[in-house]
Amino acid sequence: MAKVRAGIMACEGQRCESHDHGAPVVVFQNEKQTLSYSCDWCGRAPYARPGTGQHAEWTEAMQRNAPAPAPKPVAAPAPAPAPAPKPKAGNGLLIS
Ligand SMILES: [Zn+2]
Repeated sequence: MAKVRAGIMACEGQRCESHDHGAPVVVFQNEKQTLSYSCDWCGRAPYARPGTGQHAEWTEAMQRNAPAPAPKPVAAPAPAPAPAPKPKAGNGLLIS
């Protein structure tokens, strides 16, 4: 019964769509693969059952909004080079 975050997309609400892209909403998926979200901006709380056109639309919308997979770092960032040891004046044993 636990819902998991499925992704982020723009709210489909009419009031939200009157803006540029609708408010971003977090879409949750329950154990039956049903997607749902609750929009704080327009108050809509629709859901989309798997196999429906709306479900497909939401899935596509979420994929559009999904951040591109982070490229694998070619190499771990090199640590800052250790500062060269400062030449010590004398070795402490040649006190004159
Ligand atoms: Zn909305």
